[in-house]
Amino acid sequence: MNKPMRFILMLIVVLIHFRAVAAGEDIVDRWGQLRVEDAQIVNEAGTPVALRGMSLFWSQWIGKYYNAQCVEWLKEDWKCTVVRAAMAVDADGYLVHPETEMRKVVEVIEACIGQGIYVIVDWHDHEAEKHVEAAIEFFREIAQSYGDEPNLIYEIYNEPLQISWPNVVKPYADTLVAEIRSIDPDNIIIVGTPTWSQDVDVAARNPVLADNIAYAVHFYSGTHTQWLRNKSTNAMNNGAALFASEWGTTQSNGDGPLYLDETDKWIDYMDEHLISWCNWSIADKNESSAALKPGASAAGGWTEDDLTESGIYVREQIIAFNEKIGTPVETDHFADQPGSFTIRHYPNPFNNLTWFELSIASARHVSLALFNLQGQRVKTLIDDYLSPGVHRIPVQPAGLPSGSYVYRCRTSYEIRTGSIQLVK
Ligand code: MG
Repeated sequence: MNKPMRFILMLIVVLIHFRAVAAGEDIVDRWGQLRVEDAQIVNEAGTPVALRGMSLFWSQWIGKYYNAQCVEWLKEDWKCTVVRAAMAVDADGYLVHPETEMRKVVEVIEACIGQGIYVIVDWHDHEAEKHVEAAIEFFREIAQSYGDEPNLIYEIYNEPLQISWPNVVKPYADTLVAEIRSIDPDNIIIVGTPTWSQDVDVAARNPVLADNIAYAVHFYSGTHTQWLRNKSTNAMNNGAALFASEWGTTQSNGDGPLYLDETDKWIDYMDEHLISWCNWSIADKNESSAALKPGASAAGGWTEDDLTESGIYVREQIIAFNEKIGTPVETDHFADQPGSFTIRHYPNPFNNLTWFELSIASARHVSLALFNLQGQRVKTLIDDYLSPGVHRIPVQPAGLPSGSYVYRCRTSYEIRTGSIQLVK
């Protein structure tokens, strides 16, 4: 096949793909029933995949976000492919108010099924071995109601404390896995590991003997650094699939400064190994790991002003990754703030110099790159946090042949594309 014909065919394939996505093909439609193969979560077709999304906060304390409108916003605006319902067990949770807490979880499950995204049902407990009967009753009910849905992922023990894997946590997991598997033979079960779900290497050497098991690795970037990535690599090398079902941009107390340089390293690591993740948390608590500022609406619809620094960063990370897997993002997410971002370029066509002019209303991360018509990136023009104001960026075509180029400008909130002509 000659080159122009190949290019036209490639364009057709890309257009069909985007049309399918634009027509509302949700992630669960595309990926179907997930499973674990060779230390990796794969989709129904056997392709390795990773989910990116948000964890809700302890259900008994900030239960207001356990609703369908919030889930819809997390899917539509944040591009989440998974949402985690962190159902409180102890501390005035399910153990004393089983119907109230179950109702919140069911609302989130139903909303995620309606939106076509995955949902984690998390037994949010630090002493689950003391609540085995309650856990069995809860997960039997969940499995009976939703075990046939590809959306469902079980998480049976959020964060064990510094207790024994072989003597305490694994026996608990063996019991719960057997109960769930007696009803639902296949949906993924995430198993917590000792030391607040860090000892994944210990679990990997003595694994739960069942199909479709993943192990929780939880980290907070200000506390858990390269040493925990090393433990994670060790666990994967021993055959364990990992799921970062909870992580934060702060120290492990959830508050104080953000550690975004270290978080970048974690994000890169999880991208490289296709480890699925949920960030902690969708909450409007006055602490820096919370994604929302105090008073943010329970129904979503959040503007930039409703998000914390952590929320802005994490949302951008979710969108950036899910864009790569074909989630459409060609929208202006904060349309209620017209003119918050503009881009123009001149002259066009150009010969030896052209300019991009970016005008932004508030500080945000901006990346601007040029692509040739084969889709290869030929120049990165900017990849940085920009302050509010007007920024002029020169482009010199050194090394580029004459022809058409596409630019793509992505900020925390929007993507703009266009074409420019180089005439030498
Ligand atoms: Mg099933």
